[in-house]
Amino acid sequence: MSEIAVLVTGASRGIGRAIALSFGKKKARVAVNFFEREKEAVSVCGEIKKLGGEAFAIQGDVSNSIHARRLVEEAKKRWGRLDVLVNNAGITRDRTILKMTDEEWHEVLNVNLDGAFFCLREAARIMVKQKSGAILNISSIVGLRGSIGNANYAAAKAGLIGLTKAAAKEFGRFNIRVNAILPGFHMTDMGGSVWGKYAQRITDEHVLGRLTDLSELADFVVHIALQRSASGQVFNFESRVI
Ligand code: NAP
Repeated sequence: MSEIAVLVTGASRGIGRAIALSFGKKKARVAVNFFEREKEAVSVCGEIKKLGGEAFAIQGDVSNSIHARRLVEEAKKRWGRLDVLVNNAGITRDRTILKMTDEEWHEVLNVNLDGAFFCLREAARIMVKQKSGAILNISSIVGLRGSIGNANYAAAKAGLIGLTKAAAKEFGRFNIRVNAILPGFHMTDMGGSVWGKYAQRITDEHVLGRLTDLSELADFVVHIALQRSASGQVFNFESRVI
């Protein structure tokens, strides 16, 4: 059994699930966070155990700082340490700017940016004491180039890049690496909801003419989490040249 202790937020499905399973392949101990879909999260835990890892499912809304603290503390309590936090939980509430409500703006910022900050802050408290750790923020290329109809999402994902760089500078002296990942497009529930609208553009811009592979992305995230040299970086795991 590997000693790596990991918390992945939003790991019940999609990209978070794939990342949790990749840690499972490393026989890591994984806290699988979910918001509503407990059955899916429990099933991810079963798959991780089959791969030789350990896992437990834990409910929590990352946009609530009390929940975020509980997620991190439970992982630490269960595994005795926390080596990796993956801030993956995310939502969309797409609307053009003139039609976007205050609620749609805040909901996306609250989950995608505040949630990552709350989890990062709590994880860093533990990692500073350990004098080691890795934090990965799952951002998006939309945070760099913008996109029509989701300014809330673009702003949150750009904010995650700033948070990544600031935290890398603050925590580097404690041997904590903080990096951001741009995952590329994936046919998850979130990706599937915009596929019809962007399919042509996404495949046209992808130099390999196809989508980025989900399990390869997840293995890449695990690799970045476990390497010990790079911090404060934005890794673009996709083949759209911008
Ligand atoms: P997804 O399939 O919609 O899954 C979202 C995950 O986030 C689920 O596990 C969900 O939990 C969880 N979640 C939602 N709200 C939460 C909250 N308040 N607290 C805790 N967990 C919450 O999304 P995805 O496509 O896998 O995306 C994962 C991440 O990658 C997101 O940050 C997204 O912005 C980013 N991303 C995705 C793509 C893509 O093409 N798919 C591209 C670039 C970046 P429940 O299942 O319990 O609801």
